[in-house]
Amino acid sequence: MILNGGMDGFEWTGPRDFAGTVLVQLSGAVLRPGIAEVPFGVTLSEIVDIAGGLPPSHRLKALLVGGPSGGILPPEAMSLVYDHENLERAGAHIGSGSIVVVDQHSCVVDLAAVLTRFCADEACGKTIPCRIGLRRLAEIGSRICEGQPRGDEVTRLSDLAHDVAASALCAHERRATLALASLVRYFRDELDAHILRNSCPAGICHPKADARAGATS
Ligand code: SF4
Repeated sequence: MILNGGMDGFEWTGPRDFAGTVLVQLSGAVLRPGIAEVPFGVTLSEIVDIAGGLPPSHRLKALLVGGPSGGILPPEAMSLVYDHENLERAGAHIGSGSIVVVDQHSCVVDLAAVLTRFCADEACGKTIPCRIGLRRLAEIGSRICEGQPRGDEVTRLSDLAHDVAASALCAHERRATLALASLVRYFRDELDAHILRNSCPAGICHPKADARAGATS
């Protein structure tokens, strides 16, 4: 964009208070994954269209926006304008510019648990709430996926995610809580299916009922 239009061309691209372009990586359930340069001010829906949208018969379940420490947003977020403020308000961030389209074949609970475990492994260890808190959060996610919830996991998850984010020394810790916090905010039905009914709507996790059946067969 800069090479083609010079500085003025770049400055006049996108909204006046948020000029310029951003590189986004599109992956997941899209027809043409890849990297695109888009002006700030476009919607998530317009960005997903650049990747050809979802394959036929695939239904949008969620959007992981911001990379491994990003937020998992519901389908309604497709109308969201892609800029820092809007994404932060929705519980995500631009981060690495990654947008992963999640369809009905993936489990958002499993996704959040895996992402939190990754972020826990990536913590440098300097801050105790981050070093230990992220690991405890990841364990809660794993317990829910494995059908082994202990008591009121949703409250425990919400409180711990809040406390860990509030004690953050750097952006990693604050953002690493977003994925699991997104579940409470947007995907309570999927959480309840795992916790209350030992059921994974996408058939990815192995709730307790399945584990018991396996143990006795
Ligand atoms: S908050 Fe940042 S500095 Fe502290 S342990 Fe986590 S990654 Fe390291």
